[in-house]
This record gives sequence, structure tokens and C-alpha cells, in this order.
Amino acid sequence: MEFSLSPRCQELRTQLSQFMDDHVYPAESVYEEQMSAGGLHAHPPIMEELKAEARRRGLWNLFLPHKTQWTEGLSNVDYAPLAEIMGRAWIASEATNCSAPDTGNMEILTMFGTAEQQERWLHPLLEGEIRSAFAMTEPAVASSDATNITTSIRRDGDEYVINGHKWFISGTLHPLCRLLIVMGKTDFDAAPHLQQSMVLVPLDTPGITVLRNMHVFGYDDAEGHVEMTFEDVRVPVSNLLGEEGGGFAIAQARLGPGRIHHCMRTIGAAERALELMCQRAHARTPFGKPLAEQGVVQTWVADARINIDQARLYTLYAAWLMDTAGNKAARTEISGIKVAVPNMALEIIDHAIQTHGAMGVSQDTPLARMWSWARALRFADGPDEVHRLGIARRELRRWAPTS
Ligand SMILES: Cc1cc2nc3c(=O)[nH]c(=O)nc-3n(C[C@H](O)[C@H](O)[C@H](O)COP(=O)(O)OP(=O)(O)OC[C@H]3O[C@@H](n4cnc5c(N)ncnc54)[C@H](O)[C@@H]3O)c2cc1C
Repeated sequence: MEFSLSPRCQELRTQLSQFMDDHVYPAESVYEEQMSAGGLHAHPPIMEELKAEARRRGLWNLFLPHKTQWTEGLSNVDYAPLAEIMGRAWIASEATNCSAPDTGNMEILTMFGTAEQQERWLHPLLEGEIRSAFAMTEPAVASSDATNITTSIRRDGDEYVINGHKWFISGTLHPLCRLLIVMGKTDFDAAPHLQQSMVLVPLDTPGITVLRNMHVFGYDDAEGHVEMTFEDVRVPVSNLLGEEGGGFAIAQARLGPGRIHHCMRTIGAAERALELMCQRAHARTPFGKPLAEQGVVQTWVADARINIDQARLYTLYAAWLMDTAGNKAARTEISGIKVAVPNMALEIIDHAIQTHGAMGVSQDTPLARMWSWARALRFADGPDEVHRLGIARRELRRWAPTS
């Protein structure tokens, strides 16, 4: 593959780094203060200021590889270094309209939405006026296997009627959330991968009840990962996304880019953890010698550099395959990075926490939140074991006995 950055990517990288220095890092503590003052699910005013500034600088919707009437499009390889920079700060992706789960939702609306659906939902999402959530996982079944889900989407005249119980639905509590993309079954008797469909459900549709927010290692994330029920929720049949029975295929299309975006951002988080580890190692001197001169810390630092650089190259390779051969051709590599990157980051963040002593587990560094998110990523968008299963099956198939 070609490793050099395109001129457009280099330019955007410089501009984004400048935006991070000028606005995002200084806003981190402001955001936390405004969240504390405004209550748990507040929308801090600083975020709208950051969004306006990012937009003014042309740092907006960089995640979308497709050219649309509203966006220019940027390749996955070009986006990778930018997402890495965003991953350094918790608030940067939302500020640039590049945050999950909207990115995946915008991508499938671009690929499968009708002109009317795009005008109603995609356009305001691209404008950053509204946000959205993706509802697939269910408490009652092993949802890492999407063929298990039980939510029903039954046709009744010109409407679909949805009944089901979901949880860990991220983004639902964001004050700007207006849209749920719900995955359920329209035909329980079809072949296992043709039973599912996706429908667009306005969040204020009668019959939707948010039961509670699920915590992530004790963090009550402002945007929420909610448990919710759907009781006789009715939407017009024109809210079907793609075709009836096409939900599983759309889910696959959604997860490829979503997974690599998570990995790109997580590499940025790991870089920041390494920086913090090094700064702390220079600053603290237990037992008469700076931590930076302790062999164990030097090993952590060296291994972190080796492992981040390996993970970055693997991620860039997956991005390049997606750009040149398509998302399907890159599925082994996407699964590979989805296992490798969060595990790589977890070890580095853990060492950075250790270097910080008690402060490392507190709110005074971004490390504790980074760790909890990297750990959760080993489930979100598919558990490690499911990705390994896919890779192993493809690898073993190559060497299967022929007779
Ligand atoms: C922070 C967070 C945010 C999330 N956001 C969303 C969201 O916005 N929308 C949404 O729909 N879902 C979301 N999820 C849910 C996530 O996608 C699921 O948790 C994931 O798909 C696993 O499904 P499950 O929890 O039902 O686990 P299960 O399917 O019950 O699996 C449990 C465990 O079984 C193991 N396992 C599975 N298959 C195999 C195998 N073949 N071999 C060996 N072991 C195996 C894995 O270790 C797995 O963790 C989120 C999860 C988290 C933690």
C-alpha cells in the first residue's frame, strides 16, 4: 500500500491539530464544568460553540467516504489520521460531527435511504442539528449473533408495528436525539439472515419507553446507553430503510466503517495516554530516582511505542483495503484491528494509570474514562471472540482438506 498522506489529508491534519490546541483541549474542563452545572443529560453550550468553530474551519463530516449533494467525501485512509487526532479528546468527535453512533447511521442513510428519508433525516444529521441512535441489542438474547434478536416489525396496512425490548442503545439521551434506527424481524420464517429489517423511528413516537440508562464501569454517560421498550410503536411503511429482509446486510455495511472509526480514535487515545505516562514519569521521583529512569517504566514506554505503531499501520492497511477493494474484502482486517486496537490501548492506558498513582483512577486525568471506553469497545460493535471466530473460520477454510 501507499503510506504517504495525501495533500488534502496533510492540510486537514494541520488544521485539525490547530483546532484541538486552540479550542478542544481548553474546552475539556469547561465541558465537564457545564455538565456538572447543567445536570446529567445536559447539552453544554460549549459544544455548540465548538461545532460552530469546527464548521467555520471546514472540519466537519470528515468521516463520510461518500460524495453526496451535501458532502465532498474523504477516503478511509485520509480520515484515519484525522480520527486519531479526534480520539485524543472525548469531546472532539461530536464537535466535528464525526461521532458514533451518528456516523454509522449517516452512512447507511447515505447508502440505503430514499431521497425523502435523506432530506428528512440525513440532511439535519449532516448539519449537526439532530442526533440519532441505533437499536439492535436486546437483554433477552445473545445479541452478538444478530440472527437471535426478537423485536418484531409487523406490517399492518400502511404501517409497521414494532414490539420489542432493547438495551445499551447509545445516544438516546442526547438532548438533540430525534431518530432511532431500529433493527427487528419482519419475517420470523425466512432464512436466518433474511428475517431482519431496519426502520426509521422518530424518538417521540408513542409506545417508546426509556426504562433506565446503563452505566459503563460506573460512568453514567451523558448521551446514554439506554434500556428501552417498544410497545405497538407505529411508523409508516415508507420508514423502512432499504428492503424488507435486508436488515442484516445493512447492519454489516454499517459496522465496517463504524469499527474502523473506533479503532482510529482509540489509537489517538493510546497516544495521549503514552504522552501522559511520559510526562508523569519525568515529574515523579519515588525512592530517589525519577520514574523515567526505572527499567519497568522504560519497558512500558517502549512497548507502548511499538504497539501503537503496529496498530496504526494495521489500521491504515485495513482502511486502504476498504478504499481500494471494498468493505467486504477488508472484513478480516477490520475484525483484526477491532480485536487488536482496544486491547493494545487498554494495556497502555493501564500503565499510564499506574504511573499516575491514585490520581490515575480519578477525574483529574482523562485516563480513567479512556480505560472504561476502551474496555467497553471489546463488546461494542461485536465482542473480540466473535471477530476472532470470523477470522479463524476464513483462515481455516483456506486449509480445509479437499477430500
Ligand atoms: C458501551 C456500549 C455501547 C453500546 N452501544 C450499542 C448501541 O448503540 N446499539 C446497540 O444495538 N448495541 C450497543 N451495544 C451492545 C453491543 O453491541 C453488544 O453488547 C454486543 O454485540 C454483544 O452482545 P451481548 O451483550 O448480547 O453479548 P452476548 O451475545 O450475550 O455475548 C456474551 C459473550 O459471549 C462471548 N461470545 C460470543 N460469541 C462467542 C463465540 N463464538 N465464542 C466464544 N465466545 C463468544 C463474548 O465474550 C461475549 O462478550 C453497546 C455495548 C456497550 C458496552
